[in-house]
Amino acid sequence: TKPLSNMQQRDVEAVLHPYTDAMKLRTTGAHMITRAEGVRVFDDRGRGYIEGMAGLWCSGLGFSDRELIEAAKEQLDKLPYYHLFGGRSHEPGMELAEKIKEIAPGNMARVIFQSSGSEANDTQIKLAWYYNNAIGRPQKKKIISRMKAYHGVTIASASLTGLPPNHRDFDLPIDRILHTASPHYWKEASDGESEAEFLARLVKELEDMIEREGPDTIAAFIAEPVMGAGGVIVPPEGYFPAIQAVLDRHDILMIDDEVITGFGRTGNWFGAQTMGMQPTSVSMAKQLTGSYVPLSAVAMNRDMAEAIEENSGRIGTFGHGFTYGGHPLGCAVGLKALEIYERRNIVGHVRDVTPTFHRLLREAGQHPLVGEARMCGLMGCIEVAPEGRKGFEKPGAVGTRLMEELVARGSIFRSLGDVLAVCPPMIISEAELEELFAPMHEALDVTYNWARS
Ligand code: PLP
Repeated sequence: TKPLSNMQQRDVEAVLHPYTDAMKLRTTGAHMITRAEGVRVFDDRGRGYIEGMAGLWCSGLGFSDRELIEAAKEQLDKLPYYHLFGGRSHEPGMELAEKIKEIAPGNMARVIFQSSGSEANDTQIKLAWYYNNAIGRPQKKKIISRMKAYHGVTIASASLTGLPPNHRDFDLPIDRILHTASPHYWKEASDGESEAEFLARLVKELEDMIEREGPDTIAAFIAEPVMGAGGVIVPPEGYFPAIQAVLDRHDILMIDDEVITGFGRTGNWFGAQTMGMQPTSVSMAKQLTGSYVPLSAVAMNRDMAEAIEENSGRIGTFGHGFTYGGHPLGCAVGLKALEIYERRNIVGHVRDVTPTFHRLLREAGQHPLVGEARMCGLMGCIEVAPEGRKGFEKPGAVGTRLMEELVARGSIFRSLGDVLAVCPPMIISEAELEELFAPMHEALDVTYNWARS
């Protein structure tokens, strides 16, 4: 191994990196990214990479959009900070809330802001609880999430998350959070079970869970339209309408987590439209500002908004909000991002380049190292599993190696264990997609031989 550069040495001695093997990092050092241009990032050695993950599924407009940068500068000059607490407000907050109401799926009536996706989902839980208190059914408290879901890392949102690393060392989930099955047919179906039978079984399992727990104790169901960090899991056709029917029967809210899928990613403004969801409230973050500034939001329907507003005098105000929730800088950049999505027809562009993206993923899926290629709009993955869905005895090593081989060849993908995720900036061109995938076959071959040796 090469000695660490000065910058890498300073980095490992100062930064604790999330989700990172810190001991390994002491010898490898972190990959120091110093600047960016369009869909490319450059490291401290001056080497460029196509950023196939848009950072963390978030930089939808790439990394050097002048309009977003100018919008940020203008807002900093005008009003660098203010809040929305206790009867104060500001123009970018008001305007962005209006715009979100206009574009969000469902008929959304009010918007409350935070800074991160985790905070948005924490807010969702409190809104569901407060709402049920307000309408006189305080016993309706439990939230049903799904195995493999990713909804964040705060104590409550990590509880919604359905992945072992987010629970393991923290005594999570907290009580009142339940997990039903993930809708991953290839991985989870019983032998010989058709997709329709699999779906019917999931729906029955959900209904059984609700009956077992007592429908009058269940407040909400939360879902990403397409699961992201859990492994880019696209549900079977008809999944959400079938789930929705169960929720409707038991008067359970549908919380839509659009933190990854919002703002064009799946080829519609929101994943809910792609997947036929009817949310009562929606979480958004990441591409809301193109990730130039942290900002998240929860939009809620009229029923919820009115119940909360009309009861705030009686049961007390909604006691929740963050210092930086609805930061004017985030709101100004968010407004500009939404304007860009519309003016430049980013959704149309995503649809235009999706066939190329899906072809490249399917081609990679043909390799003997790959068990399944999954995709929806401009998010996708390949799962390394040469012997079928049961995967490797020691999960993660092969996926990590494949990612390293790709990065060494100039293409940034992200390994989620043995799932190699790809979610490029939405502005990516067909030529750049080809370039992103150009090293794939060689990287798969090298990794395949390494895994067999
Ligand atoms: N929800 C989903 C679907 C996500 O993918 C993420 C982050 O990746 C979150 C919530 C949490 O967002 P944050 O990391 O901004 O807290």
